[in-house]
Amino acid sequence: MPTLLPEVPPTFLRTALYARLSQDRSGECENVTIQLAECQSYADANSWPVVGTYSDNDIGASKYSKKPRTDYNRLVAAIRAGRINIILITEMPRLYRRLEELLTLIRLAETTALRRIQTTDGISYDLSTEEGVHAAINAVNNAMLEAARISKRVKRKQKKNAEAGKNHGGRRPYGYESDGKTLREYEAAIIRECAKRYISGETVSDIVCDLNARGVPSAQGLKWRVESLSRILLKKRYIGIREYNGVEYPAVWPAILTRDQHEQMAARRMAAASRGTRKGKPARKYLLTGLAYCGRCDAKMTGAGRTAEKDRAAQRRYRCHAGDGHGGTIGCGKLYRAADPLELLVTEAVLHVFDDPKVAVTLAPANDEKTVRALVEEFERRKAKAKSLVADYANDLLTREEFAQAKSIAAAAVDEAREALTEYQDAQTLALVPADQTIREAWATAGLAWRSALVALVVERVIVHPATSGRGMWRGYKFNPEYIEIRWKV
Ligand SMILES: [Zn+2]
Repeated sequence: MPTLLPEVPPTFLRTALYARLSQDRSGECENVTIQLAECQSYADANSWPVVGTYSDNDIGASKYSKKPRTDYNRLVAAIRAGRINIILITEMPRLYRRLEELLTLIRLAETTALRRIQTTDGISYDLSTEEGVHAAINAVNNAMLEAARISKRVKRKQKKNAEAGKNHGGRRPYGYESDGKTLREYEAAIIRECAKRYISGETVSDIVCDLNARGVPSAQGLKWRVESLSRILLKKRYIGIREYNGVEYPAVWPAILTRDQHEQMAARRMAAASRGTRKGKPARKYLLTGLAYCGRCDAKMTGAGRTAEKDRAAQRRYRCHAGDGHGGTIGCGKLYRAADPLELLVTEAVLHVFDDPKVAVTLAPANDEKTVRALVEEFERRKAKAKSLVADYANDLLTREEFAQAKSIAAAAVDEAREALTEYQDAQTLALVPADQTIREAWATAGLAWRSALVALVVERVIVHPATSGRGMWRGYKFNPEYIEIRWKV
């Protein structure tokens, strides 16, 4: 009896086991030890000599990730060195993230001892034949397709959950139990308190200090930080909204705050952002810095407070300085004016100007001027039309019903024209104004830098003329607006 020889000499069966921990299939990951054990027993059953064991952890790496799979690189090096004939894996996606990687391996098979890829479910890809190469490419393609399908399925499910207003899982949101739906009353009360305090003018950092001083822990049981509280306060979750990809859905959980509160906080946050408080730079305290000029000598006036003394209160003032404090001269040094009424006067004038759509002309970039002029004319025409309706009504040309109807149509037309105009107002300034707020409304919550920028848009300078001290009062201030001259940028 002739000795039964093995079909292939064992030197052609040098096998490398490769395992990879990844999540790109069902979202589950199979332990590498289990994968390697499965490969080992398959190799043993076939009497293939295992010459190397390799495993990588790919969790968290995207399919586009260039993150090196270190053991994979060792495997490739062993192949290049001619030590490997067979790569044994549990299934194709364990070996490849991308088709390009397989192509590299196919090229290696042309020049090295590598012959095939074998899976433990019995599929063999013979890289020395065209059929084998095609089968391997198909397997990787199918795996990639399947991964894409799974990811679509996962996304569809996420979207469905979002539409149903369901929580997306993850860490326990502050104010709720870990199911994301049941209120944790103590924390909900903290959120309500913080929102109320923030809206009433306290800074987030003051509130954070207070929470930490009281020993109120965050959702993770840690100390509060300014960023985390700011983020929480503006989360739409707290007004009962589930957001997904920029779309809002009514949530299944109860709201803690009202939409009104949310909007007020958003406005405050925006105002704070526009203040642009850079570190190291003292906050501005005077609205008209750089715009106020002395009416006697033409020098710039600057804000300089008068400190309180025993018989008089502290006062914010603008004043003309004689010297710069380093021996240089600036101005006459003889003029000063109380800051509060001066700023109030300029503010009122400026807001009045912004109420007038014609201002848009001066604010528009030069190349839009024609369009803006046309829009202003249209606006004026519509306003005139609305006015003439009143006359028609007064002259009995219209019934009360006709007048009411026509008036509302005319008003809508005027609004529409006004809206078209605002689009041409200074984008930088208006970008800071919420769509449903006028500049006048935004002013109330805006920071000083924003206000100053707005004033500077239309005001060239504010000239403070010498005033004879009289007994005149204005808005409760000892101040005479007649001595203030506003030069507009027109
Ligand atoms: Zn002066």
